[in-house]
Amino acid sequence: MSEEMKFVPRAQLLTLEEIATIAKAFTRLGVKKIRITGGEPLIRQNIIQLFEDIGALPDLEELTTTTNGSQLVTLAEPLKKAGVKRINISLDSLETKKFKNITRTGKLENVLSGIDKALSVGFEKIKINAVILKNRNHDEVVNLVRFAIGRKIDISFIEEMPLGIIDDHNRKEVYYSSDQIKHDLEQEFELVSSTESTGGPSRYHNVVGTNTKVGFISPHSHNFCDQCNRVRLTAEGRLLLCLGQEHSVDLRKVIRTFPDDIEKLENSIRNSMKIKPKGHDFDSTEKPIIFRHMNVTGG
Ligand code: SF4
Repeated sequence: MSEEMKFVPRAQLLTLEEIATIAKAFTRLGVKKIRITGGEPLIRQNIIQLFEDIGALPDLEELTTTTNGSQLVTLAEPLKKAGVKRINISLDSLETKKFKNITRTGKLENVLSGIDKALSVGFEKIKINAVILKNRNHDEVVNLVRFAIGRKIDISFIEEMPLGIIDDHNRKEVYYSSDQIKHDLEQEFELVSSTESTGGPSRYHNVVGTNTKVGFISPHSHNFCDQCNRVRLTAEGRLLLCLGQEHSVDLRKVIRTFPDDIEKLENSIRNSMKIKPKGHDFDSTEKPIIFRHMNVTGG
């Protein structure tokens, strides 16, 4: 999957302290859950300091993260100590060569060792996230579920979000819907719909006879925007009101103009909710309308 990585000059990036202050403002406004995502959050220098600062916020109920798992062998323990309760690990293939192709830089064995380390550390919940594309990894959905069952963890299958211009595949041709994945899985497993939710967009099914739930995140086939209560802060301080739209507020400007005035920050956040769009206009048959890549905002 070719996504052009553009590195932003350090001065344009929020410092870890600025991110922690913005997180504090959100929790003072009633936000109970914060997920730290990327690109890959765990490669940022001193990132554990940020997890510790946010994990220590008195009003926060849940700190979670989404990672590609490459750093978990060394960072799983400090993440748990910092207060991370749930961890999502991106794993699109169990085949070494294909994994390398999909991730461009990743080593499968590092991620598998990272998952084992995270299991040994004892997070409340570990979940695999897999983006499934036809003729790329759709043939692995059964093995990925077996992998999750073997470790008593959950797994979510994600329909690709049409974010950013890409050149290595035609999204329309490789689109593989949640319903198709569910159909493939039902040839091997008995799936029973579950009402359980983590407050996220996944619709879960229990795999009968196991401790594993299979989730489906279906931005195309089963739009979930009507229940959306999420906003995203980019590393540059842009508060994105919707993953699928460009509505945003520049919180970096606010925090750098009024560095010691958290109420100014809270007012900006409160006001920004007035422009939160109703939902995305994704249409996988058309050219993407959102040019920023997924790795700029994270899931
Ligand atoms: S596309 Fe936008 S409105 Fe829909 S679930 Fe995602 S963030 Fe929420």
